[in-house]
Amino acid sequence: MCFVVNVCKRFANENPKVFVTITHPYCVGLLLVGTAFFFLADMLYVVPFIFDTSGAMYKLAWLVAAFIIYNILGNQLACYLTDTSVASLPEERRFPKTEEEHLWAYCDVCKMKVPPRAWHCKLCKFCVLRRDHHCIFTATCIGHKNYRYFFWLQFYLALGTGLSMGCHLLAVVVNKDFQNRYVLVWIIKSVLKRENNVHAGNWNEFLWQNWLLMLNTYALAFSLLMLPYQLPIFYLNTTFYTGSELRYNLGLRSNIKLLLGRRGFWTFISPWIHSPLPHDGTSWEEMKPLDISNF
Ligand SMILES: [Zn+2]
Ligand SMILES: [Zn+2]
Repeated sequence: MCFVVNVCKRFANENPKVFVTITHPYCVGLLLVGTAFFFLADMLYVVPFIFDTSGAMYKLAWLVAAFIIYNILGNQLACYLTDTSVASLPEERRFPKTEEEHLWAYCDVCKMKVPPRAWHCKLCKFCVLRRDHHCIFTATCIGHKNYRYFFWLQFYLALGTGLSMGCHLLAVVVNKDFQNRYVLVWIIKSVLKRENNVHAGNWNEFLWQNWLLMLNTYALAFSLLMLPYQLPIFYLNTTFYTGSELRYNLGLRSNIKLLLGRRGFWTFISPWIHSPLPHDGTSWEEMKPLDISNF
């Protein structure tokens, strides 16, 4: 896995234009198609094995699924639409105040001074405020202004694929027809317990259900893989590439506000909830030296 990531990084550095042309449409499309696929497969195939399709629980399942889909697609779109570049600052904030001048760096590519924690992205071709990383699934850089949307996108992807897997397992427990179509269950019942005539549906149903479970496992593993990277970002106010940096850590409560805005975790409700950030991404308060020694 690390080898593949390193090869991709090297290719992106050497051929940024080709990398973006290939990966952006493919990865954005994959996320959209994958989300629609699991939504329809679960609601039209798996969940009817668990709940009566005319009952209240089935309607509730539709509401929960729609809420998750809304947040996945909404946060993906908000990530893409939010300009987090240094150039998005108001004209008067694109230059350091006299007392901040020593903190700003010069970008040789953009030919301008940039605030602390801003870095140049070769793929976006501009400097990004508190740059976290470039995300190929939203076709943009993740930085100061759109980190909130990226976090909830990841959260809802993990929640969606987790619930999808939960529905599979529940259907296995409560429905015998569904249960018998899994390779493992079929083998245990047919071979180990020496039961004959285990009805596993027709061949197409058998293949479809096992293929669906395999896809769900991959999607869940991929969604969960990225979540642990968010922990140091919240606890230490670091970024994806500066995981052990302590200097900007202001405590969990303040870090959450800096990342998600003044409404904090209430932003889970919708990407369109107004949650202004405490500052514009140019002036970063640092941890006091005393606090570092106590850490
Ligand atoms: Zn730059
Ligand atoms: Zn970028």
